[in-house]
Amino acid sequence: MCRIHKFRWPNIRGHAYDQAVTGQDEEIQIPVLIVGGSLVGLSTALFLARYGVESLVVERHSGTAIHPRAGHFNLRTLEILRSADLEETVRRKSREQYPPDGGISNVESPAGREIATYFTDLNTGVAEFSPTIRLFINQDALEPILRERAEALGARTRYGTECTTLDQDADGVTAVLTDVATGSRFRVRACYAVAADGNRSPVRNRLGIGMRGHGVLSNSITIYFRAEQDLTPLLAGRNQGVHYVTNPVLRGFFRLDRGGNGGFLVVNLVGDTARPEIVAAYPEAPWANVAEGITKERALELLRAAIGVPGMPVVIEDIATWQAVADIADRYSDGRVFLAGDAVHVVPPNGGFGGNTGVHDAHNLAWKLALVLNGTAGPGLLETYDAERRPVGEFTVEQSYARYVTRVAPYLGTADAEPVVDDLYLELGYQYDSPAIMAEPGDGELAHQHPRDCTGQPGSRAPHLFLQRGDAGLSTLDLFGENFVLLAGAGGGAWCAAARDAARALSVGLEAYSVANGSAGELTDPDSRFCAAYGISPEGAVLVRPDGFIAWRAADATGATAGAMTGVLSRVLCLENG
Ligand SMILES: Cc1cc2nc3c(=O)[nH]c(=O)nc-3n(C[C@H](O)[C@H](O)[C@H](O)COP(=O)(O)OP(=O)(O)OC[C@H]3O[C@@H](n4cnc5c(N)ncnc54)[C@H](O)[C@@H]3O)c2cc1C
Repeated sequence: MCRIHKFRWPNIRGHAYDQAVTGQDEEIQIPVLIVGGSLVGLSTALFLARYGVESLVVERHSGTAIHPRAGHFNLRTLEILRSADLEETVRRKSREQYPPDGGISNVESPAGREIATYFTDLNTGVAEFSPTIRLFINQDALEPILRERAEALGARTRYGTECTTLDQDADGVTAVLTDVATGSRFRVRACYAVAADGNRSPVRNRLGIGMRGHGVLSNSITIYFRAEQDLTPLLAGRNQGVHYVTNPVLRGFFRLDRGGNGGFLVVNLVGDTARPEIVAAYPEAPWANVAEGITKERALELLRAAIGVPGMPVVIEDIATWQAVADIADRYSDGRVFLAGDAVHVVPPNGGFGGNTGVHDAHNLAWKLALVLNGTAGPGLLETYDAERRPVGEFTVEQSYARYVTRVAPYLGTADAEPVVDDLYLELGYQYDSPAIMAEPGDGELAHQHPRDCTGQPGSRAPHLFLQRGDAGLSTLDLFGENFVLLAGAGGGAWCAAARDAARALSVGLEAYSVANGSAGELTDPDSRFCAAYGISPEGAVLVRPDGFIAWRAADATGATAGAMTGVLSRVLCLENG
């Protein structure tokens, strides 16, 4: 049993860190240690802090991301940021960097012919499903926002610090942290560790957790550049966003900054891979090895070929090399260590799912850690993290691979690629099947659905609709995030009372509301849409988890007793008597 509930920082400074490694009394104690202080590590710290759980984030780099990398953030991520009170801040920053409602297209070059349009406008048709929007914000701008809020809520961060060993026993996790600049070491004891340490994940390797999938697809590069003139007029009215480039010289994509005077170009492939005779002649696929031996001169050639305007004055600021990979980990956890983000799923950036999926992992894990740490839930709840998130990761890897094959590398063929589905299936339509969900007969057959078909089934994301509380309008989603929430129809008062009694008996945070058109409900449903959206009669109810997923549903008032609700909550919380 781990008993660390409060952070304890020993009375040590500077050179004395080494003593902390050997002195029993001088170790740092923290409920959760997070390895990796980038997008997913910071998200984990933020979500934990919102539940009052202290964590220590360690990151070997001296600060947050220096390159834009992720830019496309999807509806579910924005819903999660909304629940963390960050939606407005992120939307403001996004507007500074990109025009709203960007598009995604495939062109010969920005100045050339359009080959395909994936999105003319990112947010067409989304209002029916979500109170928020998709947007572009660069990862190097988002991470400081996450860090600042996490720290303000009590998370600790230590940059320039590497986790050099991580071991666990029945009661907790012990790590040695090394200050990158000085080499000083200190020891940390935690109840749990979260490894958000990226695609090479030293923690995953140490635990012997394998990766499987389509493997390395290309040794790619990202060219960061400045242009002397605004390049957006070249887009000829196309919505600025992501512009895939397909021409005989290269395949990749552009993201231009708002002013059009710079941005970055990703190059995944070079040469004319559309010509079968070329592909057949070189089985070692040299066109997929852009990174090897890359020079500024070569990068400039590629950039000019991508822009499509000979002699365009551009300056290369930096070149990053990275691998496009489509792989998933065999396990998302090992004992007291949980892995999230690129540490467990690595996808090519096509579709923009990698970082988003990592944020969703962190959101799924945080409330479970919080409730297990404070004794409200049984440790079995933590086992549902792998059961719920790994199938989502598998689907995301396959969909990202399918987008890579169809948008960038048709020469690979589609034999081992799944058909591409609408992004909404990946953003809002994933279904969980685990002991923390009380499935109904027939559930579990579909791992993903279009959100239009998600009508309150246990395991699906609770649907959005606008309600009124007094004079204030709110989304159903604005009710979720902190506690369990029971939503009942106009005649579901018995479920509300039963849920409140059960929550009191189990010391579970829970709010219960009846939803009705008119004065009969605590929440007003002006368009009488609630019951249909959640698949219940006016006497029925749904139980929504703190992460906004439906845990249980009763179609009507049958069995609405405190005892029944105690049974439901006990099961969902994986309590031994559940
Ligand atoms: C060109 C490009 C475009 C992309 N576009 C998108 C997009 O539009 N949308 C999207 O969702 N995703 C996108 N992605 C993917 C996204 O960038 C990644 O999925 C995301 O960065 C993963 O975050 P992470 O925190 O899991 O891992 P990382 O960002 O890799 O961070 C892991 C961190 O852990 C640190 N670390 C590792 N080991 C240790 C240790 N032992 N001790 C201390 N620190 C350690 C590392 O230094 C690193 O900072 C894109 C990626 C690329 C390359």
